[in-house]
Amino acid sequence: MAHNHSPLIKGRKQSMDKHDAQGLDFPCGEAPASGEAKEVADGVYWIRMPLPFSLNHINLWALRDGDGWTLVDTGIWSTVTVDAWRTLFAGTLAGPVKRVIVTHMHPDHIGMAGWLTRKFGCRLWISRLEYLTCRALAADTGREAPEDAIQFYRRAGWTEDAIETYRARFGGFGKMIYAMPDSFRRLTDGESIRIGSIDWRVVVGRGHSPEHACLYSPERQLLISGDQVIAGISSNVSVFPTEPEADPLGDWLDSIDKLQQQLHDDVLVLPAHNRLFHGLHARLAQLRRSHHESLDRLRAALHEPKRVVDVFPALFARPITSDQMLMSLATGESLAHLNYLVARGEVQSNPGGDGCLWYHRQ
Ligand SMILES: [Zn+2]
Repeated sequence: MAHNHSPLIKGRKQSMDKHDAQGLDFPCGEAPASGEAKEVADGVYWIRMPLPFSLNHINLWALRDGDGWTLVDTGIWSTVTVDAWRTLFAGTLAGPVKRVIVTHMHPDHIGMAGWLTRKFGCRLWISRLEYLTCRALAADTGREAPEDAIQFYRRAGWTEDAIETYRARFGGFGKMIYAMPDSFRRLTDGESIRIGSIDWRVVVGRGHSPEHACLYSPERQLLISGDQVIAGISSNVSVFPTEPEADPLGDWLDSIDKLQQQLHDDVLVLPAHNRLFHGLHARLAQLRRSHHESLDRLRAALHEPKRVVDVFPALFARPITSDQMLMSLATGESLAHLNYLVARGEVQSNPGGDGCLWYHRQ
């Protein structure tokens, strides 16, 4: 299909994007097996844990820290993850865990933070917005779906059936994370943290999550990038019901510029998914281009008024079925692109008599 590949899900390989492999190389080979750790730079270990999704794995990092370890990201809360951590602590990662750093609050990253910090009596290090947003989302577990969220999906053009499924599944976030630590140590953009013999600078990105922390070592030319930059995967950039007018795509594109300005192109990127790579600036350029292509297709589609659900074919190659997870992702990503154009005065939205919002070019 000629148009495709706005990212539909973090983890959907954009196989149709032929540019993905261009300008990148992958110097560290394949991932270690579950329960093993592979040293990829002096004192920096690559860990891989399984995930029960179509994106079936996450990369985590163990940084040598004196006689123990600092961990970066933690895996989703599951018995499989617990077993993998236990195997690691009995083997390669013998010695105390001194702190747990989490790049951002998505369950595959923060899921085991409470378990690890309690097990070792250490602190969770995370940015303030990620910590607080996680606490808020986890607190939704056990609640009824709020009327604001129902409104949000109704205005997007969802059927009553899809809304019913949403109601039934509401609150799933909290089930994927172990009870959160009740306190944390804040990570701040630009601060420097010494871990073992390496000074890491915190570089905050936005758009995929509210205040995502990457760790950058200018001296060693290493970047622990979390979900901010990944090879072959375009991270989900979505509007959620709690902030219907948000402009996460504006934040995301600004962050791409910021990373390109602040980080050296020679850096070895240690991403949360797929393989480690060289070619940071080429990858950032690909991501930027892909979103601008999506915006162009959206502009073309809005020659006549459309609801959110009507713009899916312009943005996604794959048909959006009534699968509620897919519908939520497609709605969130479509709104991210629509709100970007609204915020820049190119597109207007008006309520129709049907309870839906209708978008059109100015
Ligand atoms: Zn994420």
